[in-house]
Amino acid sequence: MKAEKHILIVEDEEKLAYVLEDYLHAANFTTHWLADGAKVTDWFNTHPVDLILLDLMLPNVDGLEIAKTIRKTSKVPIIMITARIEEIDRLLGLELGADDYICKPFSPREVVARIKAVLRRTYNEDVDAQTPTTLSAPLLLDGHSFCISANGRQIMLTHVEFQLFQVLYQQPNRIFSRVQLIDKIYQDHRIVSDRTVDSHIKKLRKKLAGLLPEIELIHSVYGAGYRYAPQAKSAETALQDS
Ligand code: CA
Repeated sequence: MKAEKHILIVEDEEKLAYVLEDYLHAANFTTHWLADGAKVTDWFNTHPVDLILLDLMLPNVDGLEIAKTIRKTSKVPIIMITARIEEIDRLLGLELGADDYICKPFSPREVVARIKAVLRRTYNEDVDAQTPTTLSAPLLLDGHSFCISANGRQIMLTHVEFQLFQVLYQQPNRIFSRVQLIDKIYQDHRIVSDRTVDSHIKKLRKKLAGLLPEIELIHSVYGAGYRYAPQAKSAETALQDS
């Protein structure tokens, strides 16, 4: 049997912390709650932790400082919680290495689902015991023809789609905001809207589905942007895509 995953909740709103603990216990996680930002790194350094839910605004030491300190020594998955959705773009720009971002107010159910998704990606282990999530065949990218091939199949992308894919693919799991993607792709500082990125990504995902129908390669991260993380499609998403 798999050991229970231990989640460190760093949150100064007591009621919110209690609700999160309830939901996490119901989902078979064990938890520890800290409300004081100054206590987090010490606790983390002396206890085993599988994932940290980290609020941004905290007394004494804020979530940013905590994330920076922890990242110096550890790759433990961190889900950052912020009260302002506009804040996420700035946080992404700081490259703190958080694994996901959640905006308040949130539904505890959603938080549990996001924790499971991050754990699945990080430990390559399916918490819900569904289908395996790894990519069996390597992807081959050809920067001259803008083609991607796998399993003997090949798709041809436009120049922009290929660049978008390459940026995401080269740093698996890292979330790129739309602004960051635009900066990487349009070096002539053209004015490109977020919607342009979304529309290219949409077309790209459709083409990728033709290459690997069972696997979701690119994920949109709500309020944040996109990331490359191969995962087996659930029956539900496979249905939506077809
Ligand atoms: Ca707070």
